[in-house]
This record gives sequence, structure tokens and C-alpha cells, in this order.
Amino acid sequence: MNIYRGEDFGVAESICRALRDFSSHETMKFMRYLIVLFIAALLLKPPSLFAGESLALQKVVPDVYAIIGGLDNRTAENLGNNATFGFVVTSSGVILIDSGASWKGAEHIDSLVRSVTGKPVTHVINTGGQDHRWLGNGYFKSHGAKIIAHEEAVKDQKFRASDQLSMLQNLVGAEGMRGTEPVFADEVFSNELRLTIGGKTLLLQHHGWAHTPGDSFVWLPSEKIVFSGDIVYMERLPGVQEHSRSKSWLEVFDALAALHPRIVIPGHGHPASLEKASYDTRRYLSFIRKAVSDYRASGGDATGIRSIDQTMFRYLGNYDALSGRNALQVYNEMEWE
Ligand SMILES: [Zn+2]
Repeated sequence: MNIYRGEDFGVAESICRALRDFSSHETMKFMRYLIVLFIAALLLKPPSLFAGESLALQKVVPDVYAIIGGLDNRTAENLGNNATFGFVVTSSGVILIDSGASWKGAEHIDSLVRSVTGKPVTHVINTGGQDHRWLGNGYFKSHGAKIIAHEEAVKDQKFRASDQLSMLQNLVGAEGMRGTEPVFADEVFSNELRLTIGGKTLLLQHHGWAHTPGDSFVWLPSEKIVFSGDIVYMERLPGVQEHSRSKSWLEVFDALAALHPRIVIPGHGHPASLEKASYDTRRYLSFIRKAVSDYRASGGDATGIRSIDQTMFRYLGNYDALSGRNALQVYNEMEWE
């Protein structure tokens, strides 16, 4: 009995024909051509210096850009840049807001600046003392930029530089941190600094201790846009840490809100409205302070602090890692208020 159906004979025949053709001179020539094309495509593909493309560039309005990092912790892939940065293109150069957490991270930021303008970064503003706000200074300074920061931010950077570098060595690794050295501001300011560069005016304002002691925001009065640094977190739970002060953070937030910015470019997350900034940052800070205050008033002590229900903020990134620690930090702050 013949076990094959007619079409199966047809397929077998086609395979035999293909094998026969494969050995023919023309087909071999074609195959060689395909192989050459494939190798050329591999060689011509531009090499990605920054595997994983951990930063996203967003044009906010003409000449104003946000560079948005991921919401998670520092890694070898993101080179420590787990935050949002930004820049303003002027007629005489680029003003960068925050330089990233490492030399290589700064190089990545610079590659995004260069993707939109041929003008160099002439000024770098550090909005605070957290690692990702300033440890890329060395890269930009070596390329001719002037670094500007609030005096308290510089003090904080000097105080925490070695802790920040060892934390980054652990999380990012020696290769990712290669070349990173602490480099501090060339110009410091006390309360407010007005900069007019290449036809753009920026106001740097410090209103007190927020996420870090020297947090400042950068206000563009013509565009009504504010770069908030770590004063505003969006999409991610604010981190209230040993170097934070939640009480004055609320006051600093209110000083920023009083400007009625049209767009807030946050320290973490995507640019959005003031309402969104308030919803994700102010509402949380206000909530956690009230909840901890009530907990203390009812006789609760530090050991049971995790019993405070914060689940209404579970929609924010890093909730599991930060919520309990935040409550404990606010509890400790309140001992001294
Ligand atoms: Zn931050």
C-alpha cells in the first residue's frame, strides 16, 4: 500500500529539486551575495555605546528637553542615571540641568544633547546633592562647562561624596564608574541666581531643605516651565531619607507651586502638570506626615511603624522598597521637630 498522498510526493520532489539547485553555480553565487550582505549589515550597524538605551529624550517645548531615566535603582546598564535630567538650548550653548551619576552616565547624557544640537554644554546646574545630580560634573567640566550649584548642595556633595561613590561602585560596578571623580561647582549661590545666557533667562531658587539640604529648582519664566530636581517625584514614591526633611520639603514644594508652572520636569518620572506633581509628591508627603503624627499620638513606637497603611500610594514605583523606610524617617524627624 502506498502510504504517501499525492501532495507529499510533490513536496519531496520540490525539496530534491531545491537541493539540486542549491549546488548549482547560480545559487551558490546568490548565497555568497546574501552572506556578504549580512556581514556588511553587521559591520555597518552603529555601535550602541549605551546598551539598553536607559535614557529617553523628550522635547518639552522648543529648546527645552527632558532626559528621562528609569524609576528603578542604579545598575550597570543605566550607569547610575535612574533619574530625570534636562537641558535648555540657547543661542550660545546648552544649559544642562544635572549631570548624571558617573562619567559614563554624563557621556550618555551628552550624546542625547548632541542628537538635537551641535552646540556644546556650556553650563551645568546641579539641583541638589544626590549622586545623580552631580557626579557627572567631571565629564562636562573637562569639556569646558561651568558648574553651578547652591552652597548647601555643594556642602552636601562634599559630605556624602565617598559614601555615594562606594554605593555606586556596588550597584553600577567598577567598569561603569570608570573615570568618575567628585568635581564641585565653579559658582555657588545662596538664595536665588538669575542667569541670562544666549537669550534665555533662568532663575535658580533655593527655598530650604527638601529631599536633600541643598535642593533648588530652575524656573524658566518665559516658558513657565520648572525643572524641580528631587523636589518633585512623579510615578515613583518620594524617598524620605536620612538626608531629607519632610516638613520643609512641603514648604519648598509650595514655593515651587506658587510660580504656577505650566509644566513640571520632575527629578524622577516624566514631565507633567503641577496637578500631577502635587498628586504624586505633595499629597504623599502630607499624608505620611499626618499618618506618622497620628501614630505617635496614639502611643505607637518605631518598631511598629510599618503597620501604617500606605497602600493608597501603591500605584507609585518603589512603593515596597521605600514606604516603610519613609515612615520610619518621618517618625525620627518628628522627634526633633
Ligand atoms: Zn533623585
